Amino acid sequence: MDEFALIRKHFQNLTAVAADVALGIGDDCAVLRPGPGEELAVTTDTMVAGRHFDPAARAEDIGWKSLVVSLSDLAAMGARPRWFVLALTLPQVEEAWLERYAQGLKAAADKGGIALVGGDTTAGPLSITITAMGTLPAGKALRRSCAKPGDLVCVTGTLGDAALALQLGLATRCAHFDADREFLKARLNRPTARLDAGHKLRGLAHAAIDLSDGLAGDLQHILAESWVGAEIEADKLPQSEAFQRLAPRASRLSLQAAGGDDYELCVCIPPESLAEARRKLDVPLTEIGRITREPGLRWFDPRGNLLKVELRGYNHFPAEPVIDAAP
Ligand code: ADP
Ligand code: MG
Repeated sequence: MDEFALIRKHFQNLTAVAADVALGIGDDCAVLRPGPGEELAVTTDTMVAGRHFDPAARAEDIGWKSLVVSLSDLAAMGARPRWFVLALTLPQVEEAWLERYAQGLKAAADKGGIALVGGDTTAGPLSITITAMGTLPAGKALRRSCAKPGDLVCVTGTLGDAALALQLGLATRCAHFDADREFLKARLNRPTARLDAGHKLRGLAHAAIDLSDGLAGDLQHILAESWVGAEIEADKLPQSEAFQRLAPRASRLSLQAAGGDDYELCVCIPPESLAEARRKLDVPLTEIGRITREPGLRWFDPRGNLLKVELRGYNHFPAEPVIDAAP
């Protein structure tokens, strides 16, 4: 099958295209119609085989996750997903793999309400780049740069599930006969973008980021951009029941704070807005600490003692060797 037949068969009609697409797949560019008074939020993510995903993983899961990582960025801005383009580099045309990849991609696209409007298809080592676009009312984006001293630091859902799945080697093993391992594996391979939460937190939260590289690293981005610090109580990081049952005690904090792949949102919200946010969200929002005037990220135990930990998020080009110390 040649390049153009491949595009026609697997991608041309992947998603329904609405009236906001003047021109979709098939021309030199897609032509899109954002509404009046809307701003465009644009994000791009590359997933390289062997680095971001195991090429032996289920193709449906690779398809799902390749889009959800970008939807999660849109969620963190409070944007509504609208359009995406897909740059696919494939070592060879494997019909069965493409079929299943497209199926997972479509499931994520339909759930996120986003349309595929273009892309590029090339031969080479397996790699997937998705550029996703969303829209926002002008001036309403949830940024990293507006956290204020006194804000509560909160996270959606639970942290550490995906990192634990990876540590337990659950990513590509096919059958698990217990619900906990199935749950953890799904958290790694089929993450959820917190789109509804991001949308509803607009106007309530001061700052937000999605947790892709681990809380320790990602929260640092908010702190740096907002010129503030934070105090986090390590025991307050929300854990799933499966995590509580299966995570080794000594590595819990490092899995939850430095593990990555959670795709939850971390938000800084004034205390008076927390109750309203909790009422509106379709996912639990857990308070884990607060923003301080004093710079730096400090971790505490429940008795208020400062923890001596060196926690870092994932970095493709670390400046120094990563020290991954448990408390
Ligand atoms: P061009 O040469 O103008 O870049 P291409 O020949 O690469 O266009 O692609 C033809 C059409 O198919 C374009 O509209 C492009 O956006 C679309 N396309 C190519 N690859 C993909 C893909 N993997 N998924 C969706 N659309 C794609
Ligand atoms: Mg091209």
